Amino acid sequence: MYDVLIIGAGPAGMTAAIYAARAGHKTAIVEYGVPGGQAATTDMIENYPGFPQGISGPELMIKFFEQTQTFGVEMIYEQVQSMELTQEIKKITTNMQTIEAKVVVIASGAKPKLLGVPNENQMRGKGVSYCATCDGFFFRDQPVAVVGGGDTAVEEAMYLTKMCSHVTLIHRRDQLRANKLAQSRALANEKLTIIYDTVVDEIIGEEKVQQLKLRNKKTDETSLLDVNGVFIFVGYSPNNDFFCPELEVDEAGYILTNEDLSTNLPGVYAVGDVRRKKLRQVTTAVGDGGAVMHAIEEYLAD
Ligand code: NAP
Repeated sequence: MYDVLIIGAGPAGMTAAIYAARAGHKTAIVEYGVPGGQAATTDMIENYPGFPQGISGPELMIKFFEQTQTFGVEMIYEQVQSMELTQEIKKITTNMQTIEAKVVVIASGAKPKLLGVPNENQMRGKGVSYCATCDGFFFRDQPVAVVGGGDTAVEEAMYLTKMCSHVTLIHRRDQLRANKLAQSRALANEKLTIIYDTVVDEIIGEEKVQQLKLRNKKTDETSLLDVNGVFIFVGYSPNNDFFCPELEVDEAGYILTNEDLSTNLPGVYAVGDVRRKKLRQVTTAVGDGGAVMHAIEEYLAD
């Protein structure tokens, strides 16, 4: 029986774990993959305070992980399959066992959305990727495309220019959504071309990606772009496959939380990208992870 069981070892989950274990609660994190979540797949994090020159995502996440171990957080490397959260003792069933806890903190984060075009699934791992830091290396000195216009698309496109021969950013509107600093850096980068008002209708290739079929939304004109890889960054959706039906979520599946990060179920909390919130960054995830402890302490004391 754990006092605090945390689902997910991203920045929010690891912070909550550090706080809980440091406060003397028997704490464990259940994690299916490598600790660090999406932050561990980010090349460079420049807006996390304390690192004036920036720090690589994996490096920062290793530091987070080491800090969880300093305070004795247990790691359970299993996949959560279902949760029973309505009783006082919560039961989390993984692929290996059922774990009991007094408090559950859901920090399962979010996953990249698919573009939903023909050949996207078939070409996954053969030129279609959702992680530039994981796969960029395979496209050294080759032309690639990035789809999306948000912070992730623009920052990852910039990262890819370091190794690829050329990067074409394809955005469906005439204005990027990314922050102004990222935009000005992108516009100044000679290895990056931005194509506006354009969508990808098809990913073409048999053994591997060879071309993208593009369509200008204003003129309806179609064209082919030769690329060896396409990186898709069109937003995220919550990792919610195992949520119990009693947990309140919004129309997109993000968990609804109160100001203290509690959910509609007593003893169940949600932190980081998996909850409905405006800004999803490492700093805000860390903020959630620390802040949730106040409500947990009150709940456990009761
Ligand atoms: P996002 O802000 O939701 O942007 C998604 C982008 O994909 C938008 O430009 C959107 O176009 C486009 N898009 C969505 N569906 C599409 C489709 N079916 N076909 C073509 N394009 C499509 O997602 P994000 O960039 O991953 O960022 C997620 C959150 O993380 C944001 O809050 C962001 O600020 C934050 N973030 C921050 C940093 C940083 O601070 N350095 C870095 C990375 C991420 P429209 O613009 O037309 O909607």
